[in-house]
Amino acid sequence: MLLLRDEGELARGRGLQLVHTELVRDVFAGRADLRALYARKLVSALSAALASPMYERVIPAEVRAALGAGAAVDPAAVLDDVFGRLPFLGKRELSDHGRKAFTRELSEFLHYYESSGTTGHPAAAPKAVDDLVVNTINIGEMWGRLIQPADVALILINAPFAPAAYQFEKIMEYLGVMSFRPWVDNITGDYTRVLRLVGELGATVFIGPPSRLLEMVQFAHRAGLPAPKFERLLLMAEQTGPMLLAHLERLTGARAYVGSYGSSEAGTVAVTCEHRSLHLQVQSYLLELVDERGARPVTGARDRGELVVTTLDIPARPLIRYRTGDLVEVDDAPCACGLALPVLRTLGRTQDLLVLEGNGVRQNDVEDALWTEELPGGAVFNYMLVVRGKQVVVLVTTDGSGEARWSDALARRIAPLFPGHEVSVRPVDTLPPLAALGQYLGWKLSRVLDLDDERNWDRLPEPIRSVVRRSLDQVG
Ligand SMILES: [Zn+2]
Repeated sequence: MLLLRDEGELARGRGLQLVHTELVRDVFAGRADLRALYARKLVSALSAALASPMYERVIPAEVRAALGAGAAVDPAAVLDDVFGRLPFLGKRELSDHGRKAFTRELSEFLHYYESSGTTGHPAAAPKAVDDLVVNTINIGEMWGRLIQPADVALILINAPFAPAAYQFEKIMEYLGVMSFRPWVDNITGDYTRVLRLVGELGATVFIGPPSRLLEMVQFAHRAGLPAPKFERLLLMAEQTGPMLLAHLERLTGARAYVGSYGSSEAGTVAVTCEHRSLHLQVQSYLLELVDERGARPVTGARDRGELVVTTLDIPARPLIRYRTGDLVEVDDAPCACGLALPVLRTLGRTQDLLVLEGNGVRQNDVEDALWTEELPGGAVFNYMLVVRGKQVVVLVTTDGSGEARWSDALARRIAPLFPGHEVSVRPVDTLPPLAALGQYLGWKLSRVLDLDDERNWDRLPEPIRSVVRRSLDQVG
């Protein structure tokens, strides 16, 4: 799979590929003893963590001693008695530790990456051969159910510091699918050449964040070019609810999937099947949910809370009880694909809640109002909410003419979400560039401009701060 000169490395990579592929097939088919698997892999993960200064004081002394001496530790006891006593690891904490989170020398990694670090605190997330092999197989064995070698894939991910684009390219290699991975400048956003290639190469699959796809479709519309058509959309990196999926399907003629869920630092925790369910990759993660009632393991039973991840297959920089900040729901209804993997539904980041006078509005609420029913006189491509005092101005791009009657009808649909506020709709040619940055900022920071609280925006790192500043000028 990888071209490696060193024969030892090559043999180790090949060996890992064979072992992990067999494990994946057993776990997917429900043939594996998951409890035994967790106990065994947790001991390995904690043993690896001993080499990381970040975990120096985290693992209890007696466990350190037993693991370090290679003594016979009882894996079941580690899982049952030790694991639940280990502290949670926060995003900020991980970022602050920098390289202290590693268990190997920097040069032993294959590629250096960082998480997006919206708050100015990116976490180091380099890839080593072993975690690359495992993550590629996990995703590849799922996506192989809906992508074939005859497909052509466009990977459109503008995140040069993050591993996603490279990782998805590896998966296309794994599946024998030709891919192309162009770059579109975040600010100028000229998609002419990408659109030409989509047509010329006959791209069937789009891989990337929804806001990027929306921007490309709108660019085509404004430039008088035909909208790009695909057969399947594999979307990621942003919260994508049912209405947004349906909207993107209408625009592109494709079937839309939330392709995967994960992060630069934690890897890919859940992957879609052919029936559009995100299946948890339980062979590589020990997962928990936490809320005000405390933490409990993900068993596959229906539950919801903030997802807490322990990586079992990233020995070079293990994450133990890492709080993702993502609200999720585990669904116990069986999926038609028959895979023995729990189904995950993401509900957005915990902070992605717009609170106005005690009334909380989430992304799905707004998108339900925009896209549930067809709007006579034109569809909404994309939107941004601007809040100032008692006013909510909804900036929208549309393929219609945007007449006052149309805007008023749309405003009436959205108004019930904001009681006590005056809601108006303003069609614009293009949205502030901020609207395309959902991948980095999350929904609230990319789609809601709160003019009453500018200080929030000043905390953003450059160059995002300049983009926000221009967005404010454009609106104000
Ligand atoms: Zn399924």
